[in-house]
Amino acid sequence: MSVLVIVPAAGAGARFGGDIPKQFRMLGGRAILQRVVERFLFDANVQRVVVPVHEMLLSTVANSPGERVQFVAGGATRQESVTRGLEAAGDVQDVVAIHDAVRPFFSYETFHAAIAAAREHGASFPAVPVADTIHEIANDRVIATPDRRSLVAAQTPQCFRVEVLRDVLARAAREGDDATDEAGLAAKYGYVVKPVAGDSLNFKITRPEDLVMAERIFAEWGEE
Ligand code: C5P
Repeated sequence: MSVLVIVPAAGAGARFGGDIPKQFRMLGGRAILQRVVERFLFDANVQRVVVPVHEMLLSTVANSPGERVQFVAGGATRQESVTRGLEAAGDVQDVVAIHDAVRPFFSYETFHAAIAAAREHGASFPAVPVADTIHEIANDRVIATPDRRSLVAAQTPQCFRVEVLRDVLARAAREGDDATDEAGLAAKYGYVVKPVAGDSLNFKITRPEDLVMAERIFAEWGEE
């Protein structure tokens, strides 16, 4: 019971009134975010789950969580939301996991491997091989094609020893770095970041068709 989980869910506030952000869409009759939080709460390693949400939602959700769940106000960027989640963490001593609110099918096996790797090396993330060739483009032209065999896609939960994450976030704020993932920042600042095996079921619900697929998977397999 020593791992703190941060599930940043404060995104897409600007789209309120139009599209409901994906993390609040239903999957098997419950909000995706709720499924994600509950899945973490089932794990005895998890001390607490902190969920940064849009300020507008805070008064709505603050009454509902159990004692191991805490909602906090998110920030303007994902990184700021994670930072606010960590500030709320207080006395955490061990490992902090950061998980996308829209990946409901993460496996405990991957989570536990990431926790162990973070304890040993400082930082870790679930990696999956890239099936497509990835080109870098600029001005509508291909300018580079990295060797696909050296590329992986980064999933979550990404895990960090708490002092590593504190340092990475403080340094990013000082230097004005805004990244899409904390593992990349940690590597940039010289920390060892260890990949562990992710899997394709742990996909991120991003496009409408992802939600259709998630419903099918849920109907067929439940949450596994
Ligand atoms: O949009 P993107 O996929 O980068 O968002 C990743 C995660 O970060 C989402 O779960 C989103 O809700 C969260 N986020 C946040 N605060 C923001 C922006 C994004 O918590 N200001």
